[in-house]
Amino acid sequence: MSLRRPIRHCRECGSQVAYRVPDDGDTRERAVCPACATIHYENPLNVVGTVPALGERVLLCKRNIEPRWGKWTLPAGFMELGETTAQGAQRETDEEAGAQIALGPLFSLVNVPHVGQVHLFYLATLHSDVFHPGHETIEARLFAEDEIPWDDIAFRTVRVTLERYFSDRRSGRLGLHCIDLG
Ligand code: ZN
Repeated sequence: MSLRRPIRHCRECGSQVAYRVPDDGDTRERAVCPACATIHYENPLNVVGTVPALGERVLLCKRNIEPRWGKWTLPAGFMELGETTAQGAQRETDEEAGAQIALGPLFSLVNVPHVGQVHLFYLATLHSDVFHPGHETIEARLFAEDEIPWDDIAFRTVRVTLERYFSDRRSGRLGLHCIDLG
């Protein structure tokens, strides 16, 4: 993962922007339009997903898209405007795995400041082991803890979430985990 590419052109008038500290007491460099003076603020994005479980097993999706094509992930994706984090997590689970779930409580909140993202994973209970993966997924299947392809997990946020999940399961209590990735 890497930080988003810098803004090049003004969203209001199309002029080329310049990165500088605005004259309004701000302390950070922003993309400022020299023509219409619009300041383009860039803020972290939310990625929302689920840990869908059926008994002892967890659903993972094999990615059919870059980055990390062919690697395994929990169903997750960028939150859309107009939806809540829970709605986004449910939508991503449906889009990527075609899995029917009952959404549970928030399980992990993972800060990834070096790429400007916050990842949120909800617990979820699968209604069945029948999946209808969308075009972003090569394969969706259930894994017991000792079957998890740890060397082929797509993202660190997914790895730490799975580690905490199975650790909590062993201790008999699923909690809420706030994690900062350096
Ligand atoms: Zn402009």
